[in-house]
Amino acid sequence: MKDVQKNLSQLRDTIQKAAIACGRAPEGIDLIAVSKTQPLSLIMDALAAGQRHFGENRVQEAQQKFPALRQDFPDICLHLIGALQTNKAEAAVELFDVIETLDRPKLAAAIAAAMRKTGRQPRLYVEVNIGEEPQKAGILPDALPEFLMECRDRHGLPISGLMCIPPQNLDPTPYFTHLVRLADQHALPHRSMGMSNDYKTAITCGATAVRVGTAIFGVRG
Ligand SMILES: *Cc1c(COP(=O)(O)O)cnc(C)c1O
Repeated sequence: MKDVQKNLSQLRDTIQKAAIACGRAPEGIDLIAVSKTQPLSLIMDALAAGQRHFGENRVQEAQQKFPALRQDFPDICLHLIGALQTNKAEAAVELFDVIETLDRPKLAAAIAAAMRKTGRQPRLYVEVNIGEEPQKAGILPDALPEFLMECRDRHGLPISGLMCIPPQNLDPTPYFTHLVRLADQHALPHRSMGMSNDYKTAITCGATAVRVGTAIFGVRG
């Protein structure tokens, strides 16, 4: 069996066990295969193993890889998990099924305009700077209520989830728990959190999607 297929099958097993161990339904957790910088051959291996959710962090790279793959696999669900520039908002709305990194008012305006223009309605998540780290993107937890209101009332944007990347080298549990509490407070069903190193913890804390790259495809070149 190919590495990617073996890794995916192990991950699915671990995800299932982690879900059951905390009394959650395994079907409530999507595995997003983060394929940034990975070659088409490995993405094809993942597709052959039944993987359909993919995450990319750059619009241009995703544009080069995914339209062709979609011809054969129209049920691919493509997530944007990296920073989005306003001048790429229209391209992102055209290509992605989920935009997980809405993090500022200007981008909300650009995405709203792109959705009106293209008629496309990708799912939208707000990225939260859950560790309040100055170098990180995302809306600060305290500013979230106002930003969500602005997205909804000013731009007509339906936000359905939150996404976060907790601080490195710290126990992620309190950060994941905080994100879930914020999502609960605002009745947002999707919680995207957890990567190769901490996806099990994220599931225990209530993730509905984990974003895993290295543990599927190996170390990025
Ligand atoms: C790269 C990336 C991931 C995947 O990280 P791994 O450690 O390779 O699993 C997840 N989320 C985001 C936002 C990323 O940029």
